[in-house]
Amino acid sequence: MENPARLGRHWLARRLTSTIEGHSPCLIARYGYVDGVCPGRDEAPALVADPDGWTWTARVRPRRYAWTRLSLRELGGEKHLLPPEELRGDGLRQWGKVRGADVSWRVAVPAAGPGYFLVGDAAAVLDPASSHGVLKAIMSGMMTAHLVAQIVYYDANESVVAQGYTNWNRRWFAHDVAGLRELYGRLPKPPSWVRERGSSSGLPWGRDERRQQDRLAGAGYGRLLDGRPDQ
Ligand SMILES: Cc1cc2nc3c(=O)[nH]c(=O)nc-3n(C[C@H](O)[C@H](O)[C@H](O)COP(=O)(O)OP(=O)(O)OC[C@H]3O[C@@H](n4cnc5c(N)ncnc54)[C@H](O)[C@@H]3O)c2cc1C
Repeated sequence: MENPARLGRHWLARRLTSTIEGHSPCLIARYGYVDGVCPGRDEAPALVADPDGWTWTARVRPRRYAWTRLSLRELGGEKHLLPPEELRGDGLRQWGKVRGADVSWRVAVPAAGPGYFLVGDAAAVLDPASSHGVLKAIMSGMMTAHLVAQIVYYDANESVVAQGYTNWNRRWFAHDVAGLRELYGRLPKPPSWVRERGSSSGLPWGRDERRQQDRLAGAGYGRLLDGRPDQ
């Protein structure tokens, strides 16, 4: 059984029988906000690696700080639901709920077909360390507008254009996956899946491993993923 929460974010792909190829285990980014004063963070956002993953902190407006944490190992359990150490303590208090987002690496194939194009996160998702999800959303939208014009005004063959877009989307995704693997490979003790699934194989995450992730999702991550608070 597929993870319903994850598929909920790819409803069009599902209806159109696109496949959502998984290229990582289930990765859940936790994020939240803290109000107060943390002078060390005021002018200097930080992305800090640790043995399990990374934590990003930044001031997003006066007296408010955002944090995001991704564990590359934690496949179950509900650890890391607190703001990072530096954003706890005197004069600092949590604002709003800690939330979770499914940032498992995945790509829709095909990403276009008769009458539709998938763009942004609907077409491909990577974890925030890839650092250009917003750029990709904008650029895939621009590319789609360009291709639709080719079809509508210049009689380009729709299925050829759709295949070209799918290839473009996949290539960009594969390039970013390779970059993330390289980045995480530099951690002191990278999780084994980072090394085992080298970009050279190009293989999607295996069905058995996905089933395992879906079981984990059924065991509690659904609550995190459907946008409801987890605390
Ligand atoms: C914790 C976290 C931190 C991130 N940090 C960064 C970062 O620093 N830099 C970066 O570039 N990217 C970052 N990303 C990734 C980035 O947020 C996404 O890649 C980007 O927002 C994708 O844009 P999108 O328009 O495809 O999807 P979204 O931004 O998710 O927009 C989709 C919109 O569609 C709406 N919607 C969904 N279903 C329906 C429906 N049926 N009807 C009507 N509306 C609907 C949703 O409510 C939403 O508003 C981060 C992601 C996470 C989870």
